[in-house]
Amino acid sequence: MKQVLVIHGGAGVIPQTFPPEKIAAYKQGLARALGKGFLVLKNGGSALDAAMNAILEFERDPLFNAGRGAVYTADETHEMDAAIMNGRTLDFGAVCTVRHVKHPIRLARAVMEQSPHLFLSADGAETFAREKGLEFVDNRFFDDAYRYQQLLEAKEAGAIVRDHDIEAAKPMGTVGAVALDASGNLAAATSTGGTTNKACGRVGDTPIPGAGTYADNRTCAVSCTGFGEEFMIKAAAYDVHARMIYQGLSLEQAARKVTFEHLEPGSGGLIALDRHGNFALPFNTPGMFRGVQTNDSEPRVNIWE
Ligand code: ASP
Repeated sequence: MKQVLVIHGGAGVIPQTFPPEKIAAYKQGLARALGKGFLVLKNGGSALDAAMNAILEFERDPLFNAGRGAVYTADETHEMDAAIMNGRTLDFGAVCTVRHVKHPIRLARAVMEQSPHLFLSADGAETFAREKGLEFVDNRFFDDAYRYQQLLEAKEAGAIVRDHDIEAAKPMGTVGAVALDASGNLAAATSTGGTTNKACGRVGDTPIPGAGTYADNRTCAVSCTGFGEEFMIKAAAYDVHARMIYQGLSLEQAARKVTFEHLEPGSGGLIALDRHGNFALPFNTPGMFRGVQTNDSEPRVNIWE
C-alpha cells in the first residue's frame, strides 16, 4: 500500500526576485512540515495524524500564514480558521475566527472527535477549547513586525490582500495537507490566518466543508489556498470530488478542470490525492508553496512551476 503526504503553504504571486535566503527559509519550512507529517505515515500512523502533524509544524512557523504566522485583520488583531476531515468516515471538524488558541488545527480535530457538532465559531469555539484543555495564548502572540507592515500597506492601498501577494519580501499563506496511509485511508487538513486587512468576523474557504477542505476515501482528499470567496462560491474542494465520482474523471483531470476552468485565473491553487496515491498540485497563480513525499520517493518541495 502506498503512503503519500502532499502539503501546501499557500499560493499567490510570489515574485521570483525573492532573496535567495528567503527562498531557502521557505523551502526549509516546507521540508520540516513534510518531514513531521510523513514520519507519522512511515511509523504506520493514520492519514489523519499525518495531515495534522504537518499542519502543526506549519502553525509553529512564523513564515506561514497559520497559527504563529497568522496575518492581521483590519482591527490589528488575528483571527484564524482551520478544518480537518477524515476520508474514511466523512467526519469533519472546523473552527473559525478563533483568536487565542495556539493551534487551531488541534481545536478543529477536537470539534470533530469530541463534540456533537462539526463547526464551532469564535467565543463558542474557544469555550470548547478551554473545556478540552487546549493551549491558549494572548492574541499578541501572533504579532509580527513585518506582517504589521503588510497590514499598513494593505490599508494604504485600501485592499484586502491574499498573503503572498503583498510586496512579497515575506510571502506566506494558508497551509494545507492531504495524506494517504497504509490502510488506504485519506485525510485533509487546512489552517489559515485568512487575508490581510480582512474585516473581523470574515470567514474564508478553509473551514467550510467542500470549499477549502474535503476528503472522501472513494475519491480524494483536497486542501485549497487562494481567494477564499472564490473557492467558497465554487465549492472548489467538493468540486474535485464531484467530478471524480459523477463524471468519472481521474484525480489529475478533476483537479486541473477545477483549477484552470472553474476557478478564476489568478485565484489560487489546491492539492489533491486519491486512494491509489495519485496526486495533483495545480495552481493558477504564478506560484504555490508545496511539497510531496511518498514511501518510494525522496521528499520534494517547490514554489514555482
Ligand atoms: N484561502 C484563504 C482565505 O481566504 C487565504 C489563502 O489561502 O491565502 O482565508
